[in-house]
Amino acid sequence: MAKKTNYSLFDDVCAFVDDAAKHLDLHPGLLDQIKQCNSIYKFNFPLRNDDGTYETLTGYRIQHSHHKLPVKGGIRYSEHVDEEEVKGLAALMTYKCALVNIPFGGAKGGISIDPTKYNINQLERITRRYTAELIKKKFIGPAIDVPAPDYGTGAREMAWIVDTFEAFSPELINAKGCVTGKPLSQHGIDGRTEATGQGVFYGIREAVNVDEDMKSLGLTKGLRGKKVIVQGLGNVGYYSAKYLSEAGAKIIGVAEWNGGIWDEAGIHIEDLKNYQLKNKGYKGYPRGEFIKNGKEMLTYECDILIPAALENQITIENAALIKAKIIGEAANGPVTEEAEKILLDKGVMIIPDMYLNAGGVTVSYFEWLKNLSRVSFGKLEKRYDMEKYRKLMSTIENATGEEFTEEERDALIKGASERDLVLSGLEETMVTAYQDMNRIRKEKGIESLRTAGFILALERIAVSYMDLGIFP
Ligand code: GLU
Repeated sequence: MAKKTNYSLFDDVCAFVDDAAKHLDLHPGLLDQIKQCNSIYKFNFPLRNDDGTYETLTGYRIQHSHHKLPVKGGIRYSEHVDEEEVKGLAALMTYKCALVNIPFGGAKGGISIDPTKYNINQLERITRRYTAELIKKKFIGPAIDVPAPDYGTGAREMAWIVDTFEAFSPELINAKGCVTGKPLSQHGIDGRTEATGQGVFYGIREAVNVDEDMKSLGLTKGLRGKKVIVQGLGNVGYYSAKYLSEAGAKIIGVAEWNGGIWDEAGIHIEDLKNYQLKNKGYKGYPRGEFIKNGKEMLTYECDILIPAALENQITIENAALIKAKIIGEAANGPVTEEAEKILLDKGVMIIPDMYLNAGGVTVSYFEWLKNLSRVSFGKLEKRYDMEKYRKLMSTIENATGEEFTEEERDALIKGASERDLVLSGLEETMVTAYQDMNRIRKEKGIESLRTAGFILALERIAVSYMDLGIFP
């Protein structure tokens, strides 16, 4: 997957912001302040290999906006990581948090490595050293900057980060809140692993449930029977596809950089994922058709296309060939600014990344709150609520003379677990943000949901600066 040198995710994000700013009356100085990255930290550090050789690795942490603190955003391990990419991803985090009303500024970090080329001991050394570099410059901490997983990292790396951070700050009672996406045993939260995919599901479900929007795309309302192609079956793609298919959509294509599977009868996502884990790809998968050029599958016929891999996938080169009616951006920055113009002209609805993949940071926010309060959600009130419902049910039974069935009783009495509360908070966040964004789109008479999302985010960030009296 070659990266085009003239492409800059950060420039694309700035161009989207400029489009949105045309609909607002912001002071030009304020707009400029909002767009720029507040702090950029780039560092090199050595890695000693087991054979005695050394490598110099380059790491980044970029804090895009300090209008709210802490700043928040993932850490990416990929050979594509460079300053432009991290700047763009950090900026997207700012707008994403503002759009879904999560009180963080945006940040992003990364190391320019291909993590598959390193063994677990090397990855642990790299991650701990990266964390120590952030600590040295105060670029990490529960009140300062709170990283999370991103492409190429997961709960394991987050566990190394929190362990390193705590070793340096044993007196800090809130130290666990220095990073989110941790394993449950390390004070993570139930539901964080699947959160981004779950949010993608809620977001797409919301979009396809607006009858008039679906009619104008020539589609019926609802998820049932909708044909879906997913690019990338990593954490985000896998859970998005799983929840969409469980709700009645049909996954007819899964594309990866090393080949895809096409099956109009519908793909069994868990089965395909298991095969991929064992065989490192889809070649030889016994069902459906193997498509050698995975990227080409983005242009196949479907209702909903979900790019869930990396940025810069739908570009000026393939945008005109896209046949999907809806593009759900589960990845960050998969559609370039130039491509978006072509797609909007064709009448394609794009559900933008800054909204659609916000489920991850939303549940990260819940994890951070849990770490600060040092109590899991539901722990205090669960039994109390159950007792209250039990009493309420007996009162109803006495008044009506009729008894609830065993199933009714179980469903009504069940108190909320941490997972139930996380899912409910996530659903509320995604539903509200979609309705806000779509309302702005209609009020302003614009096509692009992305522009509407940026208008909303910009308004909220601008208010923070104006209330500080920095800008008029
Ligand atoms: N890396 C994820 C994102 O791009 C999650 C960030 C977070 O939880 O802080 O949204």
